[in-house]
Amino acid sequence: MAFKHAKREAKCPECGCTHFFEDESKGERVCAKCGLVLEESMVDTSPEWRAFDEDQRSKRTRAGAPLTFTKHDKGLTTEIGRGRGELFKVRPEKRAQYYRLTKWQKRLVESKDRNLSFALSELQRLISFLGLPRSVHEEVAKKYEQAVDRGLVRGRSMESVIAALLYAVTRELGTPRTLEEIAEASGVERREIGRTYRYIARELRVRILPAPPQDYVPRFASMLGLSDKVQAKAIQFLREAKKNEVTSGKGPTGVAAAALYIAAVLEGEKRTQREIADAIGVTEVTIRNRFKELVEKLGIEEEVEKKVREES
Ligand SMILES: [Zn+2]
Repeated sequence: MAFKHAKREAKCPECGCTHFFEDESKGERVCAKCGLVLEESMVDTSPEWRAFDEDQRSKRTRAGAPLTFTKHDKGLTTEIGRGRGELFKVRPEKRAQYYRLTKWQKRLVESKDRNLSFALSELQRLISFLGLPRSVHEEVAKKYEQAVDRGLVRGRSMESVIAALLYAVTRELGTPRTLEEIAEASGVERREIGRTYRYIARELRVRILPAPPQDYVPRFASMLGLSDKVQAKAIQFLREAKKNEVTSGKGPTGVAAAALYIAAVLEGEKRTQREIADAIGVTEVTIRNRFKELVEKLGIEEEVEKKVREES
């Protein structure tokens, strides 16, 4: 009973939602709002996805097609029959059917192409708006095309699928963006991104795990104009804190913010908690709480308090 109660009290570190879907077979909980996986078992559920991936890759490699997924139409377009030669191989009574097929296929390819180039230009816009690396761009483009090939985009908006894939891939590749940032950039509501993500994730066997706080440090540091030294120190604190389990289950952005606050104070580049809260988009209360937990566990309370007094 106590266990059940504790479960209900849990809060998603990404979006603060308290409602979860439970997957007993995998021993994990999935946030109902944003799709974040809260408890992961050691079972890796991705092999199927990877197998699909590799199959595609080997097919494409065999076909000798270039493998840049961000470029539209990679020379993979298949056409039924090219030129008159093909037609003579078809028995006369089959020719009418053959013509119909050719036309149908052509239309399919054209509509897929149109949708794909539309989606890829939206993706391009989001990538530059959010300042994301090329690796993220390519991975989202690749997964989007796979989603299209498997009919997962049908009945959903292209924008929400792109946003959901961005949410997943930025985490996977160590450059996480918050659900809020993606919602704002894409104009798709958080709840909708979460819903689409859950569906796509189920079908493509991808999972969103909470990003480690360290992954947020470089970007937050540059938003606050903090030096590399502060960054390195913050990351070092986070590693130590992780060993002591201070950070697990806490929102990673708040933890990263607190670590940066401490590191900045110690390196003589103090920013107020208010400044950090405003820049990063977490509350001051969150920073204050994570700060207390961190300094206590790291045993640097007095040292930090002293510095804070000196610098204010
Ligand atoms: Zn959530």
